[in-house]
Amino acid sequence: MRPFKFSKVTDVAAATQLVSGNREAKFMAGGTNLLDLMKEGVERPSELIDLSRLSLTQIKSVSGVISIGALAKNTDTANHPLIRRDYPLLTQAILAGASAQIRNMATNGGNLMQRTRCTYFYDVGMPCNKREPGTGCGAMEGINKAHALFGWSDKCIATNPSDMNVALLALDAVVKVQSADGKQRSISFGEFHRLPGDTPEKDNTLAHGELITSIEIPAASAAYASNSHYLKVRDRSSYAFALVSVAAAFETKGGLIQKSRIAMGGVAHKPWRAFATEKLLDRKRPTDELIKAAAEAEMKDAKALEHNRYKVELGKRALVLAIKRALKMGVA
Ligand code: SF4
Repeated sequence: MRPFKFSKVTDVAAATQLVSGNREAKFMAGGTNLLDLMKEGVERPSELIDLSRLSLTQIKSVSGVISIGALAKNTDTANHPLIRRDYPLLTQAILAGASAQIRNMATNGGNLMQRTRCTYFYDVGMPCNKREPGTGCGAMEGINKAHALFGWSDKCIATNPSDMNVALLALDAVVKVQSADGKQRSISFGEFHRLPGDTPEKDNTLAHGELITSIEIPAASAAYASNSHYLKVRDRSSYAFALVSVAAAFETKGGLIQKSRIAMGGVAHKPWRAFATEKLLDRKRPTDELIKAAAEAEMKDAKALEHNRYKVELGKRALVLAIKRALKMGVA
């Protein structure tokens, strides 16, 4: 591992100034992904800025908007009474991720920032445009069973590994960030992560030195609480990343779907909003036929690779099952 300087800070201003002043510096929160990457030689920062002394751990309601601190632990977030009551989709998604030990250490900001689990990205002996731009993509002609169906480019076919991100997208969350000059800005969740394009080394739209301070979920998203479900399909039941996941949430009235919010994980470089499915379901009475057609509408644009064709049918079935569970319809 490359030697690095370890700097402790007690406020956001000092943290952002230190990172923005050094292109090779990185923030460190729970460290559950970053330290693994450093041990493998994938990440090689010259300086780590330890965020553990910052007081960004709140989980509170402000005029109905839930503010979740970037440094609140995943476990504390999933189990908080406000989250369990109003956003059970988020609780389910967080608890589907990683292992209990990792969730106890991992922070919410870190969860947003975690990097792909593409095995070629972790293997420094293999070409990878995300780890080292311009070297090629080992997965393109290699084993791409776990890779993307939507929005990929000829530079990168990786997926975003987070479960929490999928639920936050469905809940219309907003990411609050602060830069070294003290300026704060809000990024809608759908704009936070990005597709690979020609620059797969960039996972998100943050500038170097910008720090996530909190995640906000609008009060309106609580209307989806009683009709929501997170479904994760994976190779084993714990400590495995999604092959496909679905966060489904509905506002219903008199047996009709008023509004649907559906997001998928394991299918793109960013959590993927299933707009085609939503469009077919909104303002309709849900039936088996309608739900199947809505799932097919989303998956018809999937572009499968050599080893991940199974994900197209898996995605359809996962959409159908998650939607039915959220709407409490009988499932065969
Ligand atoms: Fe690297 Fe992306 Fe290709 Fe994986 S899919 S090897 S992360 S460029």
